[in-house]
Amino acid sequence: MYDVVVIGGGVIGGTVLRELTKYQGNFCLLEKNDDVAMGQSRANSGIVHAGFDAVPGTNKAKFNVLGNKMMQSYAKELGVKYINNGSLVLGYDQEDRRTLLSLKERGEKNGVPDLAILEREQVLEIEPNIGDEVICAMIAPTGGIICPYELSIAAIGNAMDNGAHLKCNFCVDKIQKDGDVFTLTSKDGQVVQAKVIINCAGYYSDQVSALAGDETFQVEGRKGEYILLDRESGDFVSHTLFITPTPAGKGVLVTQTVDGNILLGPTSVEVPTDDTSTTQEGLQSVIEKVNRMCKGVPHYNTITSFAGVRAYCDRHDFIIEKSPKVQGLINCAGIESPGLTSAPAIAKYVVEQLVSTLFNLSPNANFNGVRTPDNFFKNLSTEQKNQLIKKDDRYGKIVCRCEQVTEGEIVRAIHENPPARSLSAVKRRTRAGMGRCQSGFCQATVLEILARELGVSMEEIALNGKGSEILVGKTK
Ligand SMILES: Cc1cc2nc3c(=O)[nH]c(=O)nc-3n(C[C@H](O)[C@H](O)[C@H](O)COP(=O)(O)OP(=O)(O)OC[C@H]3O[C@@H](n4cnc5c(N)ncnc54)[C@H](O)[C@@H]3O)c2cc1C
Repeated sequence: MYDVVVIGGGVIGGTVLRELTKYQGNFCLLEKNDDVAMGQSRANSGIVHAGFDAVPGTNKAKFNVLGNKMMQSYAKELGVKYINNGSLVLGYDQEDRRTLLSLKERGEKNGVPDLAILEREQVLEIEPNIGDEVICAMIAPTGGIICPYELSIAAIGNAMDNGAHLKCNFCVDKIQKDGDVFTLTSKDGQVVQAKVIINCAGYYSDQVSALAGDETFQVEGRKGEYILLDRESGDFVSHTLFITPTPAGKGVLVTQTVDGNILLGPTSVEVPTDDTSTTQEGLQSVIEKVNRMCKGVPHYNTITSFAGVRAYCDRHDFIIEKSPKVQGLINCAGIESPGLTSAPAIAKYVVEQLVSTLFNLSPNANFNGVRTPDNFFKNLSTEQKNQLIKKDDRYGKIVCRCEQVTEGEIVRAIHENPPARSLSAVKRRTRAGMGRCQSGFCQATVLEILARELGVSMEEIALNGKGSEILVGKTK
C-alpha cells in the first residue's frame, strides 16, 4: 500500500513526485506509456514564460510567475539545461502597439519585472533578422527556454533516486474506494493501493477524475504543430520571438532551443483526440506566419516536424484542488500552457498545501535534490574526454555521429533512473537520433545496445512501447 500515488508521468506528475520525496512515505507514479514524458511534456515550445499573458488573479498567472522565478535554480539542481534568453513580442501596427501596452500592464499586475516597449531600431540591434513589418516589440527579460522532457525525466529520476517507485505500462482503468483506501486497477489487471491519489493525467485528467467519481470538469484538445531546424541555424535568433496575441491565442513563435536548434510554431487547432500527427496545412501556416516575423528564415535546414496536444479544460484555468466529490483525490487537471513553466511552483503548492491536509508530512532527512547531469561527451574538453575514455572505453565509441553521442552515454541512460527501454527513450535522454539524419545511421546500433543491456532479443526492442517494434525476424 502506497501513501500517495501520482497518476501521469508528465512534468506535473514528475515534479509533484519529486516534491513528495522531500517527505517520509511510500510514493509511486503510474504512467500508461512505456516511458515518462510522452504526453504534452514531450512536444511543446519549451518556453519558460515570463508571465505577462495570463489573466491576473488566475492560477495560470500565479503559478507562471512563481514557476518562472524558481526555474533557474530548479533546473540547476537537477542538472537540466536552462537559458534565460528573454522574449520579445513583435508588433506590426498601431493596434498591436496598443495590445502590447495592455499586455505590459497585465504583466506588471502579475508581478513580471522589467517589461518594456522597444522601437523597431532597438529591436533590430538585438534581433537583426526581424521582418520588415515589425514596428515595435515588448521585451520580457525574465523569459527563458528549457527542454520539457529533459526536465520531466530529471525530476522523476531524482524522485526515484530518493526512493519513489515508477510503474510504466500501467494505464489506470478502474479506481475503487473502500473506506480510506483507493484500489487502482490497470487495463491489464495490475493492482496498486493508496491512501491519497494525485491525478496529473494531462489530456486524460477528466477521465481519470471520473473513474474516481468526480465528473466536475472536462478536458478538450488543441493541437500545436512545429517545424524544427538543424543546429546549423541555431543563431538565427537569440530571444524567443512571439507575435502580438489575438483572442485566438498566443500565435506562433520563433525560438532557439536549449540544444541550439531553431523551433518554429505551434499552430492551435481544436482536435477530438490526442493524435499528434502533423498536417501539410498546419506546417504551411507556420511557414507563412514565421516568414512575416523574420526575414530569410532558413527553412532549408528543416530536420523534422512534430505536434503536441494541449489539454485545456472547461474552467479556462488550471484545476489544482482537492476534489470536491472524492476525499483523498487531488486533481491537477487541464494544465495547458504555461504548465511547463509553472510545474515547480504547482508541485510545491500541491504537496505543501493540499497533500499536507490529507497525510502527515515529516521531512525526509535523506532527501538529495541534486542530480548529476550526463556528461554530454561532446561538450567536454579533450582532456576530460580522454579521462572519461580511460575510465570507461565505451565513451570512446561514437554511436550517433550527428549529435556526437557515445556508447557510454547510451548505456548510462539504459541503467539510470528512470531507465530507458526504447529507442525513443534513449533518444530523449542522450540526443542519439536527434540530429540531421534523424537516426538514419545510428538506430541499428542503439537497438543492438538496448537488446544487449536489457538482455532481450533485438526483435523485442521498440521505438515507443509495444506495437512499435522495429524488427520482425531474421532474413538470413
Ligand atoms: C503545443 C504545446 C505548446 C506548449 N508550450 C508551452 C510552453 O512553451 N511553455 C509552457 O510553460 N507550457 C507549454 N505547454 C504546456 C505544457 O506542455 C503542459 O502544461 C505540461 O506539459 C502539462 O504536463 P502534465 O504533466 O499535466 O501533462 P502530460 O505531459 O500530458 O502528462 C500526462 C501523463 O499522464 C499519462 N496518463 C494519461 N492517462 C493515464 C492513465 N489512465 N493512467 C496512467 N497514466 C496516464 C499520459 O500518458 C502522460 O504521460 C505547451 C503545450 C503544448 C501541447
